[in-house]
Order: sequence, then structure tokens, then C-alpha cells
Amino acid sequence: MGPLQIKDILQTSPENQSVTVKGWVRTKRESKNAIFIALNDGSTIHNIQAVAEPGQFSAELLSTVTTGSCLKITGQLVESQGSGQAVEVKIDDILVYGTADPESFPLQPKKHSLEFLREIAHLRPRTNTFSAILRIRHALAFAVHQYFNDGGFFYLHTPVITASDAEGAGEMFRVTTLNLNKLPRTEEGAINFKEDFFGREANLTVSGQLEGELGAMALSKIYTFGPTFRAENSNTTRHLAEFWMIEPEMAFFELEDNMNLAEDFVKKVITYALIHCKDDLNFLQNRLAEEDKNKPQNERSIPLLEKLSFVVDNPFERLTYTEAIEILLKSKPHKEKKFQYPVGWGIDLSSEHERYLVEKHFKKPVILTNYPKEIKSFYMKLDEDGKTVRAMDVLFPGIGEIIGGSQREEDYDKLLGRVKEVGIDPENLWWYLETRKFGTAPHSGFGLGFERLVLFVTGMSNIRDVIPFPRYPKSAEF
Ligand code: ATP
Ligand code: MN
Repeated sequence: MGPLQIKDILQTSPENQSVTVKGWVRTKRESKNAIFIALNDGSTIHNIQAVAEPGQFSAELLSTVTTGSCLKITGQLVESQGSGQAVEVKIDDILVYGTADPESFPLQPKKHSLEFLREIAHLRPRTNTFSAILRIRHALAFAVHQYFNDGGFFYLHTPVITASDAEGAGEMFRVTTLNLNKLPRTEEGAINFKEDFFGREANLTVSGQLEGELGAMALSKIYTFGPTFRAENSNTTRHLAEFWMIEPEMAFFELEDNMNLAEDFVKKVITYALIHCKDDLNFLQNRLAEEDKNKPQNERSIPLLEKLSFVVDNPFERLTYTEAIEILLKSKPHKEKKFQYPVGWGIDLSSEHERYLVEKHFKKPVILTNYPKEIKSFYMKLDEDGKTVRAMDVLFPGIGEIIGGSQREEDYDKLLGRVKEVGIDPENLWWYLETRKFGTAPHSGFGLGFERLVLFVTGMSNIRDVIPFPRYPKSAEF
């Protein structure tokens, strides 16, 4: 797999053997007796220290060894004299692959704000914080595939370009090859999409669910894991215009099975990160503790690893929407009129309500079920009362909704009724409706926003900081 990386070299026992290390300079420090170069190649949060003697290299060469420059160092791996590390490299030779002019290189060894780093997203993976986040993101993605593969699920690739709006979930990005300066018109003067690439209106997908259901009705258990696009103008810390969604869809699963799967799945992937990302999580935990120092005692968060272990070790609280409304109606903030939005049966819970339930009342993740049908999507299975549907939302502390799912309506007539009720033309969904005509079966599924999971696991507070190149209103740089 190529040359040894810094991660591997740091684990090697030092026997004065010769080694080659390649990476980017984090810091250079010169003392009377030695020159210390901290090198990082992104394979680990830890730098390797390389040491040269004063006078060993020309001042000219050393002046090009600055923060951000890229080096190949050859030398001997020796036991470190210093306390910070077990091994270090006694330098024989330095090759500068690429310099980084200190006058213009924006990542100097000092604290940069996350807002500033967003403006230099092409370089921010070179920081400790972002490299840690990206490694954890990778580990979680890997754990997702492993979890489903082990569980007998098939990875189904649902289309990115679609002609259906699955949810009415949000504003969609249009896909077209029409000349916007010379749009073809129908006789009535409307845009003639018959002349467009697909011969009809097309969009980027807002969810792979409907196609996922088609897969489940043949392969029994499938999941999707792909990019999802929503043009909602939501300038929040929880929404991106382009995010990655994981959507398992299972034949023969009822709501209860769906909840069990969601809870087990989230716990297992977090456990994977706890086992495989210890150093990075520790780094992020310390970073958060550092930030918290400036806050009053009661606003400080519990340590990151403790928070993650707590979620893994404790059952999620499960209750119905109706029960949740009762709790909210009896709550102190409601009685003292502290909630911004009114509480009552039928409301779409706002984030302040969800956070009260999760953070104040239960103090743990919560699964809410059986929401009023009016505030949920048309494809959710109607309950016997005719008023609520078999929906489930998983709510997490600090995040709010992390998963949205449901048992799907498998009855053709009921589904058709709901399609019409919400104003969708059944013609557009003929293929979806047909699954209920030909061998229908009870089935369920859910969607997890991958970035919300990464947000939770890394303890970061803005979703724009857990995806390499975030897309949000007025921002598609990089
Ligand atoms: P919210 O109410 O937070 O906008 P939603 O009800 O629109 O979420 P769903 O349509 O159920 O969400 O999508 C499933 C999951 O996808 C959500 O639980 C969430 O984790 C994630 N998600 C939804 N919209 C976004 C977005 N704009 N950016 C990132 N993740 C999102
Ligand atoms: Mn939304």
C-alpha cells in the first residue's frame, strides 16, 4: 500500500533504522542545540518530530522549511529525547517538495476561527480539527456500509436525477439543458419541457426513498447512501443544500422493527467511531473543553466521549407524538410562555420543543412516533384512528431530528387516496403505486442525514464544518 505513513512510523520501535517521512510542516522551532520540525501527513492527528543539528543545513534551505511547506525527510528513527513523543527522526536529508510563503500562506500556527477556515476550505483539511473530522467522517461512512453488509442489506444506487419530488420535502434544484436565454415555449406560452434533455422537468433528488422502496420490494433489505439536494433557503447550523443521506428500506418490517433497527444502527456506528477514532475524538474533546473554559459552569457541555458512551449505553426513550404534546403542555417553559412557538395537538414540533424533550425532560435520545398525518408525508401508513401515521423521528441532544422514518402505506387504495389528498398527480407516481398492486407487503424505512451524525459524533456545532466542501445559500466555492 505504498510507503509507510506517519501513523505507522509512530508505532514502530526505534532501532536507528533509516526511515523516510513525507508530509506538511506544522511548525519549525529552532533552539541553541537543535532544529525541530513537526511534520504531519494527515494519516493521524499526531505529528512526527524530525530533528536536525544547528549548521547541518544551509540557512537558505532552512528558510524554505516553513509552516505549510511539504517535505521529504530521510533520517534515522530514534527514541525521542523529548517528552511529547516516543520516537523521532534524526534528519540526514531534507527535500523540499513545495514551499509555502509565510507572507501569504493563510494557515499559520495559531488559532483560526471556524468561520475563517470555511473561507479557505481548500486548505482547512490541513488543520488538526478538520483532519480529525474528516478521518472520523470516513470511519463513520465505513461503519455504515459494514453495519448494513453484516445485516444482510444490499447497497442500492438510487438515481441522483429524478422527475419526482418524493417528499414535497423541499425546494428542488432543477436539471436542464435548455438554453435559459432562449426558452422553448408551448402554444400557451409555458416553458416547453418536451424539448428538454429528458423530455420533461427533472430535478436533483431530495431523497432516494421511493426508489429505495422499489428495491426493498424485491431484495427485502436495501440501503442507499448518496448525495441529496435541497434548495431550501435554510441558513441554519443543521441544513446543507447538498448532504449525504443514508436510507435503509426493509420489506416485512413494521414500525417497531424500524425503531429497533434505527436505534441499533446509530449505536453501532457510534461504537465503531469510539473504538477506531480514539485519538481524533480525544483531540476534539479537548478542543471543546478548551472552548468551554470561557463559558459559565452551567453552560459547559459534558465531555464528548462521555456523551457518546452515554448514547451507546442507554435505551432511547420512546413515546408517541400525543404523549410528547402532553409533556410539553405541562412543561415549565410552556406555562411561563417561554416557548417562541405555541404548543397544541397538531403542531409541527419546532426545534425548541424537540430540544426541551431531549435535553431537559428525558436527557437522552428520544424516538417520537405516531404523528398527525397532516404534518407528515403521504406515503406513511395510516393508523387505525385515521388521524395519525406510523412515523418515527429520532431526536438527538444538540441536534434535534437526526432520523426521520416510518412504516410505509402498503394498501393501494389508501395510498392513492393520500396521494390525491396532498395534491400529487398519481400519473407521476404510477410506478410507485404499482408496487402496491403487485405483491404488496408491509415495509418500513428511514433516512439519516449523515452530516447530522458526524455533527453529533465530532461535537461540532455547525454542519458546514463536518463536510469537506459545504454547499449552502450563496456558497458553492471550491
Ligand atoms: P428538518 O426538519 O430538520 O429540516 P426534514 O424533516 O426535512 O428535517 P427528512 O426529509 O425527514 O428531514 O430527511 C431525513 C433526514 O435527513 C433528517 O432527519 C436529517 O437528518 C437529514 N436532513 C434533512 N434535511 C437536511 C439538510 N438540509 N441538510 C442536512 N441534513 C438534512
Ligand atoms: Mn427540512
